[in-house]
Amino acid sequence: MIEARNLSKSYGATLAVDDLTFDVKPGTVTGFLGPNGAGKTTTMRMIVGLDRPSKGTVTIDGRQYRDLPVPLQEVGALLDAKAFHGGRSGYNHLLCLAQANGIPRRRVDEVLAIVGLDAAAKRRAKAFSLGMGQRLGIAAALLGDPRILIFDEPVNGLDPEGIAWVRRLMRDLAGAGRTVFVSSHLMSEMALTADHVIVIGRGRLIRDESTARFIDSSSARSVLVRSPAATQLSELLIGEGATVEPDPSGALVVVGLDAARVGEIAAQAGVVLHELAPQRASLEEAFMELTSESVEFHATGSASGGQDDR
Ligand code: ADP
Repeated sequence: MIEARNLSKSYGATLAVDDLTFDVKPGTVTGFLGPNGAGKTTTMRMIVGLDRPSKGTVTIDGRQYRDLPVPLQEVGALLDAKAFHGGRSGYNHLLCLAQANGIPRRRVDEVLAIVGLDAAAKRRAKAFSLGMGQRLGIAAALLGDPRILIFDEPVNGLDPEGIAWVRRLMRDLAGAGRTVFVSSHLMSEMALTADHVIVIGRGRLIRDESTARFIDSSSARSVLVRSPAATQLSELLIGEGATVEPDPSGALVVVGLDAARVGEIAAQAGVVLHELAPQRASLEEAFMELTSESVEFHATGSASGGQDDR
């Protein structure tokens, strides 16, 4: 379990993380969502002790990262896929990490097999593609067999097969009872992977709820109706309180009434319908709308203060 309490981080005048309080629970994949610059990496760096909070705390199973006796065996993180020595082979990179942390050599072979790099492991890491670098970073995160895993944008640079593999790996890790915290700036990616989402914008918490609930509550609904009597139907629907806009194809986009009600109103008036289809905003649109609202809120709100620790 990861517990963040009133976590804040400022860099000079920039408030990168603003009073975040959340829990990341074991046995689930928790998505950490926000547009670029929202503060996801900064938050993850604070969890693993690479950055010091300006305010607040974050703990891993009740302890701060620096107080963990063998950190690699408690928490594994993929933060920067390029954070390895390019002249070394993938195998040696992992072996050095293992030796420095008292992890047996055979575990290096195990994690290389898990990430599918066994064949490439003796090559110099600088010859690795971005996707291979991601796999090596994931291997390093798994090295200590930790209960808690943190992945910052793990699918960046991966081909579709690699993306599917990462999703499966995260689900398997959570299925085995581990805590999996994974960031992305893409809602569509998280919708397929995460059970739970923590959404931030401009460093602030926007949502902390199940993915299903998030999708349900944030996708705006409308109904697309096609009728040879569009004008008459439009007037009827407006009379029932709906907002009606024609779309370029001549269909009506109705907001404020569900499809069943639209059908009933048409039937009562004897209006023929050729199409009646509930619509959902795409997840990406819903997410952008939500996070852009948070930007406005942040810009006008004064409650955040803008504290600085320097
Ligand atoms: P995300 O991972 O969501 O894209 P980041 O945590 O990388 O967001 O960045 C959040 C904000 O903090 C951005 O405005 C970024 O420019 C700023 N920031 C991040 N790291 C530093 C740093 N070392 N020095 C100054 N500003 C930083």
